[in-house]
Amino acid sequence: MSMSAVAQQRTRARLTVKGVVQGVGFRPFVYRLANALGLGGWVKNTSRGVVIEVEGDKSAVSEFAQRLAAEAPVLARILEVTSEDVQPSGITVFAIASSEGEAVPMPIVPADVAVCGECAADVSSPDNRRYHYPFTNCTNCGPRFTIVEGLPYDRPLTTMKTFAMCRACKEEYHNSADRRFHAQPFACPVCGPALYWDGERKDDALALAARSLAAGEVVAVKGLGGYHLACDARGAAALERLRERKGRGKKPLAVMSRDIAEVRKFCGVSEEARAVLESPQSPIVLLEKTAPDYLAEGVAPRLHRYGVMLPYTPLHRLLLGISPPTLVMTSGNLSEEPIVHEDAAARSVLGHIADHFLSHDRPIAVPCDDSVVALVNGKPLPLRRSRGYAPLPIEVGLRGPETLAVGGDQKNTFCLLRDGVAVLSQHIGDLENVETVEYLGRAIEHFKRLFEVEPKVVAHDLHPDYASTRMAGLFQGVRLVGVQHHHAHAAGAMVDAGLNGPVIAVAYDGTGYGTDGTIWGGEVLVADLRRFERAARLASIRLPGGEASIRKPARMAAAYLLAAFGEKGPQTGREICVPLTDIEMRVVAHQCASGLNAPLTSSVGRLFDAVSVILGNSPVATYEGQAAAEMEAQAYGHGIPAEPYGFEMRRETEAIVFDLLPAVREIVHGVRRGHNRAEMAARFHETLAQCTAEVCRQVSEETGLADVVLCGGVFQNLVLTGRVMELLEEKGMRGHVHDDVPPNDGGLSLGQAAVASALAQE
Ligand code: ZN
Ligand code: ZN
Ligand code: FE
Repeated sequence: MSMSAVAQQRTRARLTVKGVVQGVGFRPFVYRLANALGLGGWVKNTSRGVVIEVEGDKSAVSEFAQRLAAEAPVLARILEVTSEDVQPSGITVFAIASSEGEAVPMPIVPADVAVCGECAADVSSPDNRRYHYPFTNCTNCGPRFTIVEGLPYDRPLTTMKTFAMCRACKEEYHNSADRRFHAQPFACPVCGPALYWDGERKDDALALAARSLAAGEVVAVKGLGGYHLACDARGAAALERLRERKGRGKKPLAVMSRDIAEVRKFCGVSEEARAVLESPQSPIVLLEKTAPDYLAEGVAPRLHRYGVMLPYTPLHRLLLGISPPTLVMTSGNLSEEPIVHEDAAARSVLGHIADHFLSHDRPIAVPCDDSVVALVNGKPLPLRRSRGYAPLPIEVGLRGPETLAVGGDQKNTFCLLRDGVAVLSQHIGDLENVETVEYLGRAIEHFKRLFEVEPKVVAHDLHPDYASTRMAGLFQGVRLVGVQHHHAHAAGAMVDAGLNGPVIAVAYDGTGYGTDGTIWGGEVLVADLRRFERAARLASIRLPGGEASIRKPARMAAAYLLAAFGEKGPQTGREICVPLTDIEMRVVAHQCASGLNAPLTSSVGRLFDAVSVILGNSPVATYEGQAAAEMEAQAYGHGIPAEPYGFEMRRETEAIVFDLLPAVREIVHGVRRGHNRAEMAARFHETLAQCTAEVCRQVSEETGLADVVLCGGVFQNLVLTGRVMELLEEKGMRGHVHDDVPPNDGGLSLGQAAVASALAQE
């Protein structure tokens, strides 16, 4: 081969890589790969992804392109690689270029990553210079989203900017053989963040915290995305104090355990559950109680599961290593307010709840709550998508105008959609107080800046009184699109299942504003992303006093007793001890008869409330979905399938109506006769599952559709979800549950964005 032929073999390619490729060790990986193949060129982070130019032997360049996707670091998620030929320049060395801030396509922000095995080993090796250093991280792990102030993702635009690297750290940063090569957020005990105890820098802060926790005190612990309130999960008195000061009713509290062996002392841990617990996202995982007396009763009263996580930062690992082995770790906030992430606010807001403060001097740029995951048949089902997941991109495939969806008023998240990619915010919370609404506004502004989105379309719920709807109305010069609540649920589930529709969508939840002015929540829709039809619904009932009945499920029980037994309803209620006073009962009866302040609702969530109270569970809801969660625990205790009760289906002009009043009557008789309540709860679940599958079968027969998506908050109930999935399959349909976003209102914004974007393309 002549020299000129060799020269012609020399090529140069420019590769643009989109996806999760920043903050996951991608550039160092590229550097090593290019060097291994003897290629020259450079790699740099830009706001539209990682751009690589490689030059050299033609076969090496194509091998590079292949191995780039095949051998990418575990945390990287490549959505797209585009390649173009460019003029070779004769460069023979490869360099990591500094980032540039040019515009266009959707930038990607990495999510926070739990401490990796190697960093954990560094922290526990006495001869390592990071021995016991609580802020150890590397290219593969550590804080990301919560410390990012702007893009591109480089140290000067993170809250690590004030910590100048020492000489030893600089050497690691520049050494391509080092795990910390070009990692942005790392440091060491010489140059990095430090621990504080009650506002003072203290070397023994962890020991002081461990001692205080062992003594039954409540300690506010600053972590990755905000403050937690911690106490010994086995100490009933400590827990009592925490609950009393925080005011959270009976809401279950998450715990953090030292290791899997500790978790196994009180929960069943399947292999799948273990994988999620130990994943880079390290969410809270709901696990079945196996030893109900191991932790204090107040951790998750009347429920069959605990929310458990493992220590996901070196700080947490070090603390749990010397503290009581399982700690309650609940968001540091006042009831339903946003998680506290600023040190000054922590002092004033948490000062009367916590006895002490364990904090540090690395600022948190973005607050972020822990994520929550359950397992359905071994598959993870997100119940809250936040730390570790937000704001990783979700492919939607719709290319419309830049869109913002503001979500709903409960479990709020919002969503930006651009170039076919959606990013969902972290968990914002319930928009029931000024603090949370303001937090939503700030978070939207931060995301707009970070992701360079200037929405042309703003999607919102149809409910005129939602705070989120009002927030959407503040945007000037945009197209506002109202999306019906359950259509949004359906669309979110479709995006999650990778379906464009039409599909059959079973949307069961608490309440959602219907197109006919009534309150929906037991809907079977035939829907695509643009439109929907209400093919079937639960028989409507009065919601006496509106909100009042949501807060007090006993009122809902009374409404169902009135519907089932007519004027004998109040007497029946007394007989089976539904805890309402005679006056309350008369008020409910009047509201139901007159319809005054008692809108019609088809909500399955409210049906669960009613039956749960009839079965002797909490008559008052101290957290959303409490009655349903308690009844699910009862049913779980008995086991499914059980023998179903009766139900009715009838065709009305506009839709199939299904009615579970026959089941309610049978349950009331069962309570009168002292039947086993767990069994009755299981039989109720079975009835609803059978009824749902039968309705779907009829709709499927009429429409020829076989894909069924399950969405809405009721499908957080795994006893119901698992059984409906089985029955759908038996009847020849394909059931789909969520896998990227929650079935509850935390996933609503994705569906709103998809609908608005699809409509904008018309
Ligand atoms: Zn690491
Ligand atoms: Zn250092
Ligand atoms: Fe909902």
